This record gives sequence, structure tokens and C-alpha cells, in this order.
Amino acid sequence: MKIIALGSPGVGKGTYAKLIVEKYGIITISSGDLFRENIKNETELGKKAKELIDAGHLVPDEITIEMMKERLSREDTQKGFVLDGFPRTIPQAEALAEFVEVDMAINFKADKEIIMQRLTGRRTCKKCAATFHMVNLPPQVEGVCDKCEGELIQRSDELPEVIEERLKVYEEQTAPLIDYYKEKGLLRELTINEDMGKYKDQIMEKVFTAIDNN
Ligand code: AMP
Repeated sequence: MKIIALGSPGVGKGTYAKLIVEKYGIITISSGDLFRENIKNETELGKKAKELIDAGHLVPDEITIEMMKERLSREDTQKGFVLDGFPRTIPQAEALAEFVEVDMAINFKADKEIIMQRLTGRRTCKKCAATFHMVNLPPQVEGVCDKCEGELIQRSDELPEVIEERLKVYEEQTAPLIDYYKEKGLLRELTINEDMGKYKDQIMEKVFTAIDNN
């Protein structure tokens, strides 16, 4: 099962992707997480990506495609995966099609106010990268990760001024992927405005049904 999770920053793709992989026994691969890991480890790739990410811009296709191609060639991808955050441009989608045959692209949608609220309230563990939300999914102790007790921070690219830029970049460069996958007959669309903290079971039922009916 090879699924692409599409949708605007803040729509909750990463959260849905994690729950999908738990149910189907596959893995999730997030290009954003891979970049952040590289930045944390101060690799050459991380050094190239950091400034762009902090400004809300995309990392160039060439670098991103190479990183994802290498990741997708590893053994643990055999049973399937959900891609979160990749592809993000038409050239990336075309490159991906050369080495992976995807089963479906799910476009997750939500109203703009909900997306803004999800983005500005998100907090991430500095140590293990687990995500929380000040309103929808608060940690047991404010500012502390439930899983590893690491410090919870607001990601540098989730500061209000960077969020605006990311949403603009999404509209210009990533939204065209919706038509790209529609034309290939691979697109499924799901609108989720409900709060994951309260309606998790119902939301995931909707997501799993879309996958099972494919
Ligand atoms: P994300 O966690 O998916 O929101 O990604 C965080 C940041 O990493 C994005 O704002 C981009 O700067 C960069 N990034 C992640 N995935 C890609 C991609 N497929 N192409 C280019 N840049 C990306």
C-alpha cells in the first residue's frame, strides 16, 4: 500500500499518516522530518536546507528528490508507506513516478481558520519530535513531552510570519498536485474540520473507509 498524503501545511497530514500506518502495519516517511533530522545532526544536507526551511521556502527539487529516492530504496519500505510532505511540486511528483507506483493520493482538506489554529497551536518535542497542540491535544504537563519528557517548542517555521509564507508557497507550488493526481485517477479527497482530540475515532473511520474502498 503506497499512499501520498496531500494537503496544506497544518491540515493534519502528519497526524493522519501516523494513524494510518499504525492500522495497516506500514511506515510513514515525512520529508519535513528527514530535513529536520539532518538539521539536528548538522549534516551537509541539513546545512543546505536550514535557511530555506526557516524562511518558509521549499528546499530545491534536486536535493529533495535525491533524499527521498534514497529513503524509499531502503528495505523497510517494502510493505508500503504513507508519504507525508512529498511530493510538493510537479517535478517531484514526476520524479517519484519513475521509481514508485503509488496506489492513491489523499487530499486532506480543512477550512482556512481551522488550518491557522492548528498551525499556530502546534508544539513539537525538541528531543523526540512528538507533536502536541495547545488546545486540541495538550500535553499532561505544559511545555513537557508526555512520551520522553523533552521540552516542547514552537517550530521555527511555525511562527506566524513564516506560516503565511508557507501557505503562499503551498498554493503556488503544491496545490497543482491535486489536479495532477486527479488526472491520473489516483485522487481521493477528505475534508476534516473536526477536532482530533474529541473525534479521533470518527475521523479515522472516515479515513480508513476511504482507503479500504480504494
Ligand atoms: P513539513 O514538516 O512537511 O511542513 O516540512 C517543513 C519544511 O521542510 C517545509 O516548509 C519545506 O521548507 C521543507 N520541505 C519538506 N518537504 C519538502 C519537499 N517535498 N520539497 C521541498 N521542501 C520540503
